[in-house]
Order: sequence, then C-alpha cells, then structure tokens
Amino acid sequence: MPRITYVNGRYLRHPDASVHVEDRGYQFADGVYEVCEVKQGFVVDMTRHLDRLDRSLRELSISWPMHRKALELVIREVVRRNGVRNGLVYLQVTRGVAPRDFLFPQAVAPALVITARKADPAQATKRAEAGIKVITVPENRWDRVDIKTVGLLPNVLAKQAAKAAGAQEAWFVDVDGTVKEGGSSNAWIVTRDGYLVTRPAEHGILRGITRTTLFEVAASLGLTVEERGFTVAEAKAAREAFISSATTIAMPVVEIDGAPVANGHPGSVVLSLRAAFFDIAEKCQA
Ligand code: PMP
Repeated sequence: MPRITYVNGRYLRHPDASVHVEDRGYQFADGVYEVCEVKQGFVVDMTRHLDRLDRSLRELSISWPMHRKALELVIREVVRRNGVRNGLVYLQVTRGVAPRDFLFPQAVAPALVITARKADPAQATKRAEAGIKVITVPENRWDRVDIKTVGLLPNVLAKQAAKAAGAQEAWFVDVDGTVKEGGSSNAWIVTRDGYLVTRPAEHGILRGITRTTLFEVAASLGLTVEERGFTVAEAKAAREAFISSATTIAMPVVEIDGAPVANGHPGSVVLSLRAAFFDIAEKCQA
C-alpha cells in the first residue's frame, strides 16, 4: 500500500507531497501541529488534540484550515488510506503561503498537511520493558512553549545531544533546578510515598494530551497526582520516573544523567498506567 499524504485539499503519493517554498511554516516556523496515536484502528484522544489545536491556532491568530468536523474526517481518511492500524497521524497548520514578510499576510488561507505512519506496537512494548535513559539540559526555549508550534530547534538539539550521550530523551531544566519537560514529552516521577508528580501546565511546558488523560488513568487506579515542580535530584532519588507523550504513552525512565532511578528497572506504577491507558482514553474509529 503506497503512503498517501494530504496537502492542502489533495491526497498525494507521499514522494510527490510538497509545500511551496514561501509557506510560512518553512520560512518562519509560523505554524502549529498535533500528533495523535493510532491504536488498533482508533485515533486516540482526537477531541483533546483538536481542542489543543484550536488553542494553538487562536494564540497565534491563525484561522482553522477547514471546519473542525471536516478536519476530523480528513484525519481519519489519511489514517485509512495509509492502512495504519497502529502508528501515528501528524497534522500541521501554517499561516499559509505568501511573499516573505514578517507581518501577517492579509487574506491568505492557512496551509494544512496531514501524514500518517505505521509503528510496530511490539517495539514500543520492548522499549517500555527496558525503560529509557534521559539527560538533562538547561532550558533555552522561548516563553510560549505552551503553544504547540513547529519551531522546535532547541528540542531537536536537545534530543540529538541525548542520542550522542546514549539516551533517548532530554529534560529541559529551569534556572531554579526543576525539571520542565522533555524535548517531545512531559516528565513525571513517582515519590517514595507513591504519589505521582508532574509540573503544572499553566506556564512553561506544553499541556500534553497524554498527561491530561493520565490524570484520569491515575484516578481510575486510585493514584494521586500532585502538580508541582520537582528537581533533578528528587527525580534521581524517586521510586520511579517516566515520560508521557502520544507516541510513547507512559514510558519508564531508568537512568537520568547516567545515574539509575531506584534499582534501574521500570517501575510498577508506570507500567500499570501504561497498561490501563487505552481503556480510559477516547477512541475514535478511523
Ligand atoms: N512536551 C513537548 C515539548 C512535546 O513535544 C510533547 C509531544 N508533542 C509533549 C510534551 C507531550 O504531549 P502529548 O501528550 O500531547 O503528545
């Protein structure tokens, strides 16, 4: 089955899918995106992802590329045309194509790209059984990381530094020593008393959709979540640490900057959250 990508109203063979050189996403990173997990033929938590898309668009005064209901249909169609049962769907909205100028163009339609990709769930399970390693890096991003923009260069560099260090994620650390979030994930710990801790999302991090749904998963398991900052030292001394994102769900962290978390093995709390996640999350038939 050939890969099919949606670009501004057309379903194209993936190798032929391209945007104009003056797309403002390309020239200014003037755009936003969403990534949804696809599991067993369902788009996971689509309502929350599109609610966050709406917020990102409003914060940047970019209009919707089409009616929300139509966008839902196109997302599902891209998943279907690519035969994705397990994987992800990526959508990006930019301010559109216009002669290069910093100021917003007048009467330009936003540009929409949607891709879908298969992923092997067995690989994710293997990774969760092993856990991942993270490094810490100083926060060097702008102040509005609550908006899910395609301007991700600090995240690219941080994750590349993680790879160079033999790790899979980088945690941005605030000037006060508290962990903000990962390059493409939210950061959590489980304290010695069994509380889940993650930073408040009012400011300074992206309000992850997986993070939000994990609050419900935690409640269903009788676990308490504390929204507060935690330091790197606290994370190293925690009972468990983990990350969350649409592509990793809840993924154990077994090492931080080369030091093991607890006994260096995935913890039982994160694995129970992971196991219960799909039962609680919204499932939208593709
Ligand atoms: N923070 C950042 C910086 C991210 O890029 C992501 C992944 N998009 C997340 C957190 C997690 O968000 P979500 O659970 O919605 O995937």
